[in-house]
Amino acid sequence: MTHGQSFHATRSAAAAIPRSSRLRFVSALAAGALVASACQGAGAPGGGGAGGAGDYPNRPINFVVPFAAGGPTDTVTRLVAEPMSRTLGQQIVVQNVAGAGGTLAAGQVAAAAPDGYTVLMHHIGMSTAPTLYKDLPFKPLEDFKTVGLVTEVPMTIVGAKDFEPKTLKELVDHVKENKEKVTYANAGIGAASHLCGLLIQNAIDTKVTEVPYDGTGPAMTDLVGGQVDFMCDQTTNTTQQIKEGAVKAYAVTTAERNPALPDLPTTAEAGLPNVEVAVWHGLYVPKGTPDAVVQKLSDALKGALKDQNVIDKFAGLGTAPVAEGQATPEAHRQRLQSQIELWRPIIEEAGVTAQ
Ligand code: ASP
Repeated sequence: MTHGQSFHATRSAAAAIPRSSRLRFVSALAAGALVASACQGAGAPGGGGAGGAGDYPNRPINFVVPFAAGGPTDTVTRLVAEPMSRTLGQQIVVQNVAGAGGTLAAGQVAAAAPDGYTVLMHHIGMSTAPTLYKDLPFKPLEDFKTVGLVTEVPMTIVGAKDFEPKTLKELVDHVKENKEKVTYANAGIGAASHLCGLLIQNAIDTKVTEVPYDGTGPAMTDLVGGQVDFMCDQTTNTTQQIKEGAVKAYAVTTAERNPALPDLPTTAEAGLPNVEVAVWHGLYVPKGTPDAVVQKLSDALKGALKDQNVIDKFAGLGTAPVAEGQATPEAHRQRLQSQIELWRPIIEEAGVTAQ
């Protein structure tokens, strides 16, 4: 799916939302986490980007994942961290800092020392947070330097094995009939799963009960166990479970079918053309990080995305590395900026807020 197609489809989805049925999400959990994060963010370092990389890195580097271990963002991070660590000649320690749809971790990284030893792997949520969270303790474009894009991952709509509906059409009918009796797992306000759920609910003009998790790793465990009815999540977390029959698959949320799941219809084929979204991931460092350090990380990322193990593992999980020209600070920054502009009117029109 191209970026342009995604733009068009999601804007159409927003335009189709009747004002009377606007959704509103309130998360006390998110608000509480943000207070803690705001306190940490108060001393965010500034500074320019001059200076060389020196002997960077001369000690282990922390990669912060804003969701729970075992989920799709965690999987992508661990896969690229391995070859990056080899290139950089230092250990990369992956830390999961879950909460508030990924904004807790982002706030902490924004406030971390700008020395290249704290790196954030985030996703599409970085572009939706400024509109969703009114008191966000960081500004995505101002408080970070972008390192490079990593991958763009399709999502799939999946249900518990024993959940009644067998097709997307049956799912739509079931949701319309049972409304808030139906449960939908997400990874917090602004998480990709939340955004996809929003598109689904808007497309069928019906609200379900959302069940927030620290990430879709633990959400998947509950979906497999039948504790929740359905969710929408990256193929990097669902492909294996779909193939093993541990969950039911309804559709892939891209314009094209996915080579890893060739039998799975697209949302357009299955009757929900406005539900189209893909999840882009990128690496960030605090804004004062020297440009030479950013460049070193970006070069290591570029190398990792050419690593055959990464390419093969990504393919098995329904995705691929971005093109080399995208794994750059400039391309990543442009994507972030355009995605903030893309999602703002959609979220405002839907009337969604994290407060
Ligand atoms: N897939 C999750 C989301 O909904 C996050 C994760 O656990 O990686 O954004």
